[in-house]
Amino acid sequence: MSHTSSRLSDWLLGTDPRMRDRTFLCLLAALVYLCWAVLMLTFTIPKGRVSAELGSVFLTLMFPAIFVTYPLVRMGATRHLKDPGLVAPQILWGGMIASLGYATVPTARAPLLLSLGLILVFGFINLSSRVVVFIGAALIGMLMCVLLVGTFTPLPQFNPASQLVKLLTAAFILGLITVQSRKFAKLRERVAIERRQLAAAQRELEHVTHHDGLTGLFSRPYLHSLLEQEHRRALLSGRSFGVILIDLDHFKAINDQHGHQVGDAVLMAFGRVAREALRETDWIGRWGGEEFLVLLPDADAKTQAQQIIERLRLALTQTTAVETLPDLHITFSAGYAFWQSQERIEHLLERADRALYAAKRAGRNCAVAAQTELDPA
Ligand code: GH3
Ligand code: MG
Ligand code: MG
Repeated sequence: MSHTSSRLSDWLLGTDPRMRDRTFLCLLAALVYLCWAVLMLTFTIPKGRVSAELGSVFLTLMFPAIFVTYPLVRMGATRHLKDPGLVAPQILWGGMIASLGYATVPTARAPLLLSLGLILVFGFINLSSRVVVFIGAALIGMLMCVLLVGTFTPLPQFNPASQLVKLLTAAFILGLITVQSRKFAKLRERVAIERRQLAAAQRELEHVTHHDGLTGLFSRPYLHSLLEQEHRRALLSGRSFGVILIDLDHFKAINDQHGHQVGDAVLMAFGRVAREALRETDWIGRWGGEEFLVLLPDADAKTQAQQIIERLRLALTQTTAVETLPDLHITFSAGYAFWQSQERIEHLLERADRALYAAKRAGRNCAVAAQTELDPA
């Protein structure tokens, strides 16, 4: 039963959560107009409460409100508009019909004034503060027009003196609703702006905590969280992953000979080259100082690590790290390891670190695969 009703509501209102409320209001408005139209056709016109000519004017005016607005909104034709629920035009249209009805159908005056207030309260929830003021003023203007027309031309059962009191009271109430709705709309707008600012600040903060300030690569804490995530995945799936520890060779000498700034430039150049050389699926971050860690998710082949290391090495030989020092060539040593069943992350990193140390001992500018067990360093 509930499945059927949810299918019916999906069919009537669509599935886009941002549009459902708006579409619902349009459907509700169309149904209210439909009731008015049926009432006119079955009672008001046949009983002579409204002439056939005037009745057909009302029915013509109601036609778009019944048959055009809801289908347009439901089909998504208005989605790109600033007011996708067509709230403002609907209120103005409804206000116009109500004003005309108020002027010409004495028996409908009380319910028309009430429905005008109701339309406003419903509609204002969706409008911006500027549009709220415009619409409030337009509706009050319409009521004043009725008053003016009724004062200077004969309208049925329209006593200008008593209508003056009624219409001014109605205008006053509409004005109050407008002022309150404007306050509410302003508050909503401020909340929306603050929410956007908060989201931007959160993104910025995330970027800062996830990235290393100098090289733009991932930060060590973020690498840790990626490692833990990959470790959990590996424990569940049983499929391995790899890490490559990279350490620039003789980096201290670069600092000593050319200064810390050149050292920094070298680190930045390495970050740039590494980002371009690695695949999007490989994660690289600064592990500390002139050490970097590459995480190879869902990988278990030595050749994968070797290929990445070679690609990085090649890219580095083809790069001038510091423009003013074209003869400065950077090399690195690497140690890589693949996760073994049930292994802890610290153990995996320790194996990679020892492999890196072995690469240094082997003369640098080379890569060594980790032992499957921790060998004595
Ligand atoms: P090896 O080939 O054995 O790795 O020798 P190395 O000189 O690269 O290694 P060592 O660990 O002796 O020196 C690393 C140097 O990196 C020491 C430290 O001052 C420098 N360093 C660490 N962080 C930064 C940084 O952010 N900027 C600069 N310019 N230097 C840094
Ligand atoms: Mg080092
Ligand atoms: Mg080093």
